[in-house]
Amino acid sequence: MTATAKSPWLLHYDASSCNGCDIEVLACLTPMYDVERFGIINTGNPKHADIFLVTGSVNEQNIKVLQQIYEQIPDPKVVIACGICACTGGIFRECYNTLGGVDNAIPVDVYAPGCAIRPEAIIDAVVTGLGILEERRSALKENRLAPRPVVTDVTAAAKIVDGVRVDEAVKAALEV
Ligand code: SF4
Repeated sequence: MTATAKSPWLLHYDASSCNGCDIEVLACLTPMYDVERFGIINTGNPKHADIFLVTGSVNEQNIKVLQQIYEQIPDPKVVIACGICACTGGIFRECYNTLGGVDNAIPVDVYAPGCAIRPEAIIDAVVTGLGILEERRSALKENRLAPRPVVTDVTAAAKIVDGVRVDEAVKAALEV
């Protein structure tokens, strides 16, 4: 196991979470669960991150931000969808302005459901992510790491009501 796998740095991004899952992420960092003792550090800089941990669902406002952050994280990297909103859109899935889970914007490696997700489940997801990270590190060294581009066609995720894309109807209404 490499030094990075022993000491992964993660970047936490709140896409549109209700803050429930974010509080649990914070619980992982504070003395009760204290993941720093395992070398897991929460960084604010995508260029320093190995693991991208996202809470909340994807919408028209945050999709580009999410994709830009993802692209700034150097390979190899792992994405964890943290909480049911990040996995599928959760209780916000049917909202007019919600596109769905994080995989509507970027490739997701580990789905960690829960509402709110428990700290133990977050730590478990990170450990699962470490195995994937290690595998990708070897692939990168051997020049066989396949590119994993962001999602460019979000039409499938867009809500269709009476034959009209809701996001486009909202945009049109705002332009009037
Ligand atoms: S999964 Fe539950 S706690 Fe987490 S962001 Fe969604 S609604 Fe909030």
